[in-house]
Amino acid sequence: MKTYSEIKKALNSVEMSPLEVTNECIRRIEACEPKVSAFIHFNKENILKQAEQSDIRRKEGKPLSEFDGIPIGIKDNICIKGERTTAGSKILENFVSPYNATVIEKLLQKGFILFAGLNMDEFAMGSSTENSAYHISKNPFDTNRIPGGSSGGSAAAVASSMLPIALGSDTGGSIRQPASLCGVYGLKPTYGRVSRYGLIAYASSLDQIGPFSNDPEGIEDVMKVISGSDIHDATSKKNPSPDFNDTLEIKGLKIGIMEEGKEWSEGIKKKYSEMIDYLKSKGANLEKLDFSLNEYSIPVYYVIATAECSSNLSRFDGIRYGFRNEEGKKLEELYLDSRSQGFGKEVKRRILLGTFSLSSGYYDAYYGKAQKARALIRKGYESYFKKVDFILQPTSPTTAFKIGEKTKDPVQMYKADILTTSVNLAGVPAISIPAGLDDSGLPIGMQITAPFFEEGRLLALVKKISEEKKFSIPLPVDIK
Ligand code: GLN
Repeated sequence: MKTYSEIKKALNSVEMSPLEVTNECIRRIEACEPKVSAFIHFNKENILKQAEQSDIRRKEGKPLSEFDGIPIGIKDNICIKGERTTAGSKILENFVSPYNATVIEKLLQKGFILFAGLNMDEFAMGSSTENSAYHISKNPFDTNRIPGGSSGGSAAAVASSMLPIALGSDTGGSIRQPASLCGVYGLKPTYGRVSRYGLIAYASSLDQIGPFSNDPEGIEDVMKVISGSDIHDATSKKNPSPDFNDTLEIKGLKIGIMEEGKEWSEGIKKKYSEMIDYLKSKGANLEKLDFSLNEYSIPVYYVIATAECSSNLSRFDGIRYGFRNEEGKKLEELYLDSRSQGFGKEVKRRILLGTFSLSSGYYDAYYGKAQKARALIRKGYESYFKKVDFILQPTSPTTAFKIGEKTKDPVQMYKADILTTSVNLAGVPAISIPAGLDDSGLPIGMQITAPFFEEGRLLALVKKISEEKKFSIPLPVDIK
């Protein structure tokens, strides 16, 4: 399978037609899906219909844009009109969206071919896709291992070369962590850069939609298309789309780094210092930053995210959307039975946690305090970026873990986000990029964080680093 840039070039030079590109993706999906399980649902007919229309537009010399005919995967919490959108939950098993998310409208206006239905942890709550109500997706590098989460289906689809690019959502790391564990690129944009209209909400002050890609150009192009303010999302910002014409020299850049963590695996430590040495050799100035405040990011994140989710998920009551248990005699029984049977265990745990921390008597002690700590974490990032241009960290403390390894202990699972959640609490943009394989052949990713709205400069740096061959990760051809 080709990279994103190669596919785009093949389409624009008429070397391949949209239908040929789409059929190639479908063939690869049919070959790999039994092993990878990246999709919750797959509507081949619909995909082919889009590709046929794109084919006609290209043949008539009227493509909608240079992207017309490029396939893109969509995480199953982003609404597509007329498609099932389950958010990985039983409660939305038969929900068909009556409208398009803003990002979907934007992709369609440019002629992208949408591959809907990518697997995810239920309501994006998880780090492994093991909380999906449907099935677990597998890591294409080792199918006994998880692909990361919650956007594990998106990462696995790109890493197994089913698709060149995909959309995911990131509330506390759900794009960056699976990108890292699957050896691909994944960006969480600045909060407010991309409209959340039509994204099924988990924690609204943290959620952002963003791209996965098998090369940096795919990240760049998707961001060009999906960025921008939206009257349907009051938190979307008016800042102009990122300027991807930025060029940048590593020489003279100031890059913030951190002390090695005790919980990091040996492979991660090794790659982190290799990346640091590489940047130094190119003339960057590295500065150790004090991240002690970020130790609180996991508890702060889980108080805030669960509080917001308990409120966001109250709309799933068996009346307005999705699953309804009809057996209840009274209204209250209907609510109770529909929610008890429709939601999975982790979602219920979080609704309980969130309802507790928002309840009177506990609000100030938990939610109020978490908000104060969040403000400090954000200030921390503001002060880092007075000193440095970018921050370099590993994305995840370990490589992909085995299926079932952390399911018994939710706190261990939550710790998978130790390096990613503070970025969402602050609202700044960050990307995970491939940084090579560890000794057992599992991908390692590095996270680079930039100041608010500096995705343009961030991608310029990423392109420079990705030219360095020792960090590249060849995607698996045979999936075992
Ligand atoms: N793993 C984190 C959680 O479970 C992050 C999820 C996400 O970013 N959607 O909340």
